[in-house]
Amino acid sequence: MKLLIMGRPGAGKGTQAVNIREYYQIPHISTGDMFRAAIKNQTKLGKEAQRYMDQGALVPDEVTIGIVEERLSEPDCQKGFLLDGFPRTIAQAEALDKYLTKNGVQLDAVLDVDVPADILVRRMVGRRVCKNCGATYHVEFNPPKAEGICDVCGKPLIQRADDTEQTAVNRLAVYDKQTAPLLEFYAKKNILKTVNGNQPLSKVFEDIKVVLGD
Ligand code: ADP
Ligand code: ADP
Ligand code: ZN
Repeated sequence: MKLLIMGRPGAGKGTQAVNIREYYQIPHISTGDMFRAAIKNQTKLGKEAQRYMDQGALVPDEVTIGIVEERLSEPDCQKGFLLDGFPRTIAQAEALDKYLTKNGVQLDAVLDVDVPADILVRRMVGRRVCKNCGATYHVEFNPPKAEGICDVCGKPLIQRADDTEQTAVNRLAVYDKQTAPLLEFYAKKNILKTVNGNQPLSKVFEDIKVVLGD
């Protein structure tokens, strides 16, 4: 299974990606997670990415394409993968196409988790993540059993630096301008599968399995 998961910031890509990873047993490749790990380790890549992420802007294409190609070439991706948060620009989609063609690989589906923009700032501002295992929660919509503590590993939850109201608004605008055109790009290839992301988490996953033919 070779998949992309798309959707506006806060649509639920990361949350559903964890379900998909477990169910289909494929690696989950999130460019946002890769950049956050680089920031945490204060690498050169992390320092560069942080300047853009703090503003809610996109990290430059050359940098982003490079790290994804490197990751896709690893052995665990040969049987399948789920790309989350990449591609986000037409240039990234074209680079991915070129890379996959060169390696004789075809995407099975591009999932679009569709959620209206007006509810997404609330989703982002209320998001909490485990700094140890990466599990995602929401203070209202998906709270942990004990406030501020990860259900999975018991470590503290934190708020992402870019989950402020202002940055969330910027990210939604960046999506409309730079990422939304990709839906047409994949619709033309007849692999775009849209699911309604404005439903309870478990229902969204049920719908994903249906569109993937399960
Ligand atoms: P993305 O990766 O698309 O930015 P996340 O999966 O991190 O999105 O979800 C954003 C926030 O919304 C998180 O706090 C998550 O718990 C919450 N969330 C995800 N899916 C739903 C849903 N179907 N209904 C309500 N809240 C959701
Ligand atoms: P969300 O879906 O909630 O916006 P992500 O974790 O996917 O969260 O992305 C967080 C930030 O990381 C983005 O706002 C952007 O700055 C950077 N980023 C992630 N993926 C890409 C990408 N493919 N191209 C450029 N920047 C990216
Ligand atoms: Zn955890």
